[in-house]
Amino acid sequence: MSNENKSIHEFDFDLICEYFSALDRQGPGSPEATLKALSFIDNLTNDSRIADLGCGTGGQTMTLAQHAPGQFTGMDIFPKFIDIFNQNAKRYELSQRVKGIVGSMDQLPFAEEEFDLIWSEGAIYNIGFERGLNEWRKYIKAGGFIAVTEASWFTDSRPNEIEKFWMDAYPEIDTIPNKLAQLQKAGYVPIASFVLPENCWTENFYDKQVYAQEIFLDKHSGNTMAEELVANERREAMLYSKYKQYYGYVFYVGKKL
Ligand code: SAH
Repeated sequence: MSNENKSIHEFDFDLICEYFSALDRQGPGSPEATLKALSFIDNLTNDSRIADLGCGTGGQTMTLAQHAPGQFTGMDIFPKFIDIFNQNAKRYELSQRVKGIVGSMDQLPFAEEEFDLIWSEGAIYNIGFERGLNEWRKYIKAGGFIAVTEASWFTDSRPNEIEKFWMDAYPEIDTIPNKLAQLQKAGYVPIASFVLPENCWTENFYDKQVYAQEIFLDKHSGNTMAEELVANERREAMLYSKYKQYYGYVFYVGKKL
């Protein structure tokens, strides 16, 4: 594939997209964690509407749809992810109830109070936790739910190296009590929060990338940007293994008042 006519920006996106398309999930998580969060949601029927924002290729959406009734809309900004998402829905024979659309989580094309549940794993950081909670609220029915995973600190202080990494990557990372206070302030009753187990990051995310990285590097041999992308992912995995007692993803489930 020739990329000469593309801007660096587009090229970068294509590479990121290709890299993550090879994986079942584009962020840390597991079917068990998804189902645990789902166990706190008690209002779903065949008529329910559920949105999964930043759904990626839909690993968690398919798990949800296999275990909960209702109509599911997955949304992601990358068309390639949505193509794979819709192929997955077909493969799992869920196409009647599960549809992927391309769109951005900061400009939702939905009606007010359209959803019984808004879901988002490893994605709300793209617009920020507080902003997402506040802006998405109007699309949820009264008595409906929001369930998101968000990077959180486990302790009040931590070593400089990991503090600096996160301040560069996502300065909105905060402690669990502070995130819960933000959830409540945004107009939800905090129903549950739990830390995602380590295997959501290791077995299910970083370990899966090891083989994919080799293939990716082979294919893009000599491409500095591809090499940098892989080096970044490897550094992230190394930092997780070194500092995992200080941070992780936390599932936050809230009920709209
Ligand atoms: N929920 C999936 C993917 C998480 S990765 C999982 O847990 O596996 C974060 C996802 O957010 C990516 O698929 C990325 O394409 C998507 N994304 C980034 N910015 C977005 C935006 N503005 N609107 C919608 N999706 C976005």
